[in-house]
Amino acid sequence: MRHFFVEDGQVTKDRVVIVGPDVNHIRNALRMKPGERIRVSDASGHAWFCRIDALLKDQVVAAVEEEDLCGTEFAHRVVLFQGLPKSGKMEWIVQKAVELGAHSIVPVAMKNCVVKLEEKRAGSRRDRWQAIAGSAAKQSGRTVIPEVSLPVSFREAVSFASGLDAVLVAYENERGLSATRERIRSIPEKSSIGLFVGPEGGFSPEEIEECDRSGFCRISLGRRILRTETAGAAALSMLIYELDE
Ligand code: SAH
Repeated sequence: MRHFFVEDGQVTKDRVVIVGPDVNHIRNALRMKPGERIRVSDASGHAWFCRIDALLKDQVVAAVEEEDLCGTEFAHRVVLFQGLPKSGKMEWIVQKAVELGAHSIVPVAMKNCVVKLEEKRAGSRRDRWQAIAGSAAKQSGRTVIPEVSLPVSFREAVSFASGLDAVLVAYENERGLSATRERIRSIPEKSSIGLFVGPEGGFSPEEIEECDRSGFCRISLGRRILRTETAGAAALSMLIYELDE
């Protein structure tokens, strides 16, 4: 079933009004007709099954039939702090993180990043990553579009992560998947979880020390060294396997 995201104010008890670029998409690209069912969600992540009533020039009106209570959101809010990878890889990382339930993604400039993102290009890159998050959210049936923030410094990332309930740092020199499993299982329900993944060059010793000082927990993702674009997806899979319903 087709899924559309609307702003909070566009849904009332029994009616939803879709505006913006989706109208053209529904009318002209998908050629949907009155009577067809769609799924709609608002910014809070609530979703409803609806039936199209009217296709007007600049709005599509649909009747709300029932709330979709099954939900597709992971009850834990995972923020992926991703060391900026070489160009192109971030797109893949954002897409997979969204499919695997991440709540938001924060690109982080780290000491060993091969690529230094110029400030003037950061905004347009972010917009591109945000658009990828939007299509991945639609494709995977999510009811919330994860936010991709502007790249931040390592310091800023640490300070933001310090406000979360639990912070895991994927570190290739850490050993023991059973310790990872135990750490993940000890995370209380509905927690916010920060997940740090280093860039191609890995974390610098100073960065790892800063994580230790901040009380973050290093975890292993197995005996083999994963590429940075694999590590976040692997860690997210472990989190949903252990914690999601
Ligand atoms: N520079 C390192 C590898 C970095 S891999 C080297 O060449 O030896 C990129 C990132 O993926 C790491 O910083 C880490 O966050 C994550 N990662 C890769 N393999 C991992 C593993 N086995 N356990 C935990 N994290 C891992």
